Amino acid sequence: MTNNKYKILLVEDEGNIRTLVTTILEAEGYQVITAETCLSAVTLYASHLPDLIILDLGLPDKDGIHLLKKVREDSLTPIIILSARTEERDKVEALDMGANDYITKPFGSAELLARVRTALRNGRHSAEVGKFPGGKFKLKDLVIDYDARQVFIGNDEIKLTQTEYNIVAFLSEHCGKMMTYSAIIKAIWGYPDEGGIKKLQVNMANIRRKFGATPGKASYIINELGVGYRMNGERE
Ligand code: CA
Repeated sequence: MTNNKYKILLVEDEGNIRTLVTTILEAEGYQVITAETCLSAVTLYASHLPDLIILDLGLPDKDGIHLLKKVREDSLTPIIILSARTEERDKVEALDMGANDYITKPFGSAELLARVRTALRNGRHSAEVGKFPGGKFKLKDLVIDYDARQVFIGNDEIKLTQTEYNIVAFLSEHCGKMMTYSAIIKAIWGYPDEGGIKKLQVNMANIRRKFGATPGKASYIINELGVGYRMNGERE
């Protein structure tokens, strides 16, 4: 058992899932506070200021989105959506409103713990956005020089178009966080666009080819089909 000090607020109305998630987290040394309704979660959030929130969307009193909105008014506390809903639009809506990640029920304990670790790391990273030493982003062999707008893998400069560079820089600034197609399109092109997703996919395919993404090798950018892209925040 690791004795970490992270406090996690778990919001879930189904008793068996609440017990299961609590057991998994407590076995890893996390401190868990639980809420069964959205309004009690809002109160607990304000009094405990947890390091992470795991949030079910389908709650008896209000949609979990209500808590998400409340928290995002003034805080970057990482939020993982825990939902039985498999519809893409629910996940996408929650991600666009500032959720960091989502897990679809049923899930395994290893997956849950991996998401929790990534979200906690991501939360720390978010607080430091824009404060990269020397204006450089580093992730394994990948280096982005924001001032020079250059990207390197190892010693090799990767020649990107302006649009490709903008996409890579945007994902790196949100490293570890799942960015939806519409969030990326809005950031890069500034407006929602009919052919936006297609355009994004074409650029992304070029980026991945230039990055030399090969199966089995470290991949810097992960695609979640139908949802968006994330720069892989798992540092070795
Ligand atoms: Ca529920």
